[in-house]
Amino acid sequence: MTQDEIRRRLEFYQDLGVKTLYRRQAAPSATLDPPPAPAGPALPSLEPAGDTLLKILEDIGDCRRCRLHEGRNRLVFGSGNERAKLVFVGEGPGADEDAQGLPFVGRAGQLLTQMIEGTAQKEGIPLKRPDVYICNVVKCRPPENRTPQPDEMEICGQFLARQLQAIRPKAICALGSTAAKALLGTKEGVTRLRGKWQQWRDIPVMVTYHPSYLLRPYNQNAKKEAWEDLKMVLHYVYD
Ligand code: URA
Repeated sequence: MTQDEIRRRLEFYQDLGVKTLYRRQAAPSATLDPPPAPAGPALPSLEPAGDTLLKILEDIGDCRRCRLHEGRNRLVFGSGNERAKLVFVGEGPGADEDAQGLPFVGRAGQLLTQMIEGTAQKEGIPLKRPDVYICNVVKCRPPENRTPQPDEMEICGQFLARQLQAIRPKAICALGSTAAKALLGTKEGVTRLRGKWQQWRDIPVMVTYHPSYLLRPYNQNAKKEAWEDLKMVLHYVYD
């Protein structure tokens, strides 16, 4: 179990009103074998049962849980199909997104739309941007578009997890290293992660380059790779 999973489980117990947890002494002959499966039913999911995007949005409310709220104009929750088979996760809103309250509506967003719709069309898949769901790791614009800090990602990450769990897509596409880090808990860069399936809980994740990165003229090779990644994702999800 990762540190994050332990923390979330402890928070879950706290929500249930459990005040004391007793720790067993480690058995002297403890081995590295995995522990036996628990006899009883698995713990309920940490996300509320029957969670919906609307409920999550209500729970976020006029969020002031981290410093990012100080500079925001609009909170950017996400957009698209609540029943999407494919979810794209970006890093955080930029200036255009902050002004409109919608994810990926600036230049990077236009490229993302082209990537989704252009690749789908080429591959004979009838898919438009509103058919997928698009959101970010953090819901408020970081000042000067800086990378979100670990505590900001952690605080907002609980809502991202709920969004993903509520939608339960067939696959997730992580755009850039911040999304990869948030979903996979890895510091590995996009170049190493892309092109092969990773996993968030039991949902396959494809990491690929962030559209903002692809907009830079010296990263044109990466564009081809991103198109390959997307092709793989679209065939997996829609074939
Ligand atoms: N970049 C992101 O990561 N997300 C957006 O919504 C826009 C730009």
